[in-house]
Amino acid sequence: MIVAIDLGTTNSLIGVWRNGAPRLIPNATGDLLTPSAVSMLDSGEIVVGRAARDRLVSHPRRSAAAFKRVMGSNRSLTLGDRDFRPEELSALVLRALKADAEAWLGEPVREAVITVPAYFADAQRKATQAAAELAGLRCERLLNEPTAAALAYGLQENGESRILVVDLGGGTFDVSVLEMFDGVMEVRATAGDNFLGGEDFNQALLAAFMREVGTPAGLPPPADEPPFHGLLRRQIEQLKQRLSQEDTATLSLPWRTGTLCWTVSRAQFNTLCEPLYQRIRQPIERALRDARIHPGELAAVVLAGGATRMPALRRMISLLFRHLPTQHLDPDQVVAMGATVQAGLMMRDAALNERVLTDVAPFTLGVEVADRQSDGHTVHNLFVPVIERNTVIPASRATTLSTLEDGQTTIGLRVFQGESRRARDNILLGELTVHVPRAARGQQSVEVRFTYDTSGLLEVDATALGTGAQYHLLIEGNPGRLSPAEIRQRLAALAHLKISPRDQAENVAALARAERLFEELLGEQRSAVGDWIGEFLAALERGDPRQIGISRALLLQRLDRVEPTSPFD
Ligand code: ADP
Ligand code: MG
Repeated sequence: MIVAIDLGTTNSLIGVWRNGAPRLIPNATGDLLTPSAVSMLDSGEIVVGRAARDRLVSHPRRSAAAFKRVMGSNRSLTLGDRDFRPEELSALVLRALKADAEAWLGEPVREAVITVPAYFADAQRKATQAAAELAGLRCERLLNEPTAAALAYGLQENGESRILVVDLGGGTFDVSVLEMFDGVMEVRATAGDNFLGGEDFNQALLAAFMREVGTPAGLPPPADEPPFHGLLRRQIEQLKQRLSQEDTATLSLPWRTGTLCWTVSRAQFNTLCEPLYQRIRQPIERALRDARIHPGELAAVVLAGGATRMPALRRMISLLFRHLPTQHLDPDQVVAMGATVQAGLMMRDAALNERVLTDVAPFTLGVEVADRQSDGHTVHNLFVPVIERNTVIPASRATTLSTLEDGQTTIGLRVFQGESRRARDNILLGELTVHVPRAARGQQSVEVRFTYDTSGLLEVDATALGTGAQYHLLIEGNPGRLSPAEIRQRLAALAHLKISPRDQAENVAALARAERLFEELLGEQRSAVGDWIGEFLAALERGDPRQIGISRALLLQRLDRVEPTSPFD
């Protein structure tokens, strides 16, 4: 069984292709969406999901979220007394999802299709693969998120059409233009921004709050006071979500002996976020230009990602394309749904036969060269594309480079990703030195072959044509990359980590929610929550499963009554 996983910045989902249809699998607390958050309990046990998200407020130093934003870098995050790499935290989320699927399917799960932002670069893709390995999963395919969303759309629509997918999640933004005909889905172009998502809208609100309320009230900078910071971030998130429904919304926050209130109108929010909306426009325009498709030729615009619920974004899309985005697909689920289709295709499910999918490379990859001009002087640092962006993958292309000086014995190869003519303005992926026999300039050369596989991963091979010697470039220059030995070492370390048992998930989640509310509320409500926590802990202590169930149900009912906003959020 190949499972499909949408490993999001904010929320993750797991599903399977079953009986000819996509099926999303509920987690241990019965939800389809598992918050991509990890927390370490005082006992040292790890919890994932909703409980961990609540603990971001009550136990910020033991909890982490949004680590997808640092995938592919060597930044580490600290939970309690332990440092984790982003791959490890992602692996803990993947493990929890895997356990949910195993419980639901009643069989072990070993293979997965995992979605990644189309605009994820090589290091971020390889980090995602490493996370899968650390979770005991073989990643059969990395699937681009907007492509997955289009697969879900294509499942319901037949015939010829061109569609645009806009995926704005918590931390990443992707746009893809696709063409569908006779069961074939062809990605024509992809563009995006790896550091743009709903989180940036929260940052804009947070900065405005600190300017308008924080400074006059003498608040510390948010980072200096973690419990306050966690609460504030949560309130900001809710404020933003309410502004998707209402014209104005108010945040209120306990501070010292009183409450701080801040009211924001939707118009003010939109003004604050104007630069972000501008950043959303550019990739849309580029994807259409690259695909050579006019907005008028599009049959549909498919929205994916929770942040596409923002009315200003929907309005911008309607104005750009002169028709409303598709409404029948749930933006939270569409990527995971589509990924199950890919899993079904890989299992050669009969219901999907005749369907074919092709995707493209998101970035141009090339090498740095120096070139001798007719007047004899040399220009360095030129970028020569080998595989251009939006080339259909898998793709393999070669180029030949020759020596520039008499007697030169090495050719230095530097591989870059990007679109600039000057290599130094692009991102260096790795370098390699090829040895060549001493000869007159231009007499020795090296063939460099780039291969982009269907997961969007790059391999670079070089052959010295004079000697036949072969070289393989490991993209090692990147500090964010774990070597196979490091993966083995991290795997062993993770094996010692205690994971909170799945059958305790509901208790842990109820307790985490109560503790979060204790932080959020004031006065009588707060002391009531304190008493309820005491009662529930006592029931847990006594250990009678039936009584624990009753006590938990009562606790949740009581919490619903004091929860400031929707208990379903
Ligand atoms: P990811 O795929 O990155 O995990 P999601 O698709 O789950 O992300 O979207 C999460 C983002 O969507 C968050 O930044 C969240 O604030 C935002 N979001 C969710 N609901 C709303 C809403 N009603 N209005 C505005 N933003 C929302
Ligand atoms: Mg997503």
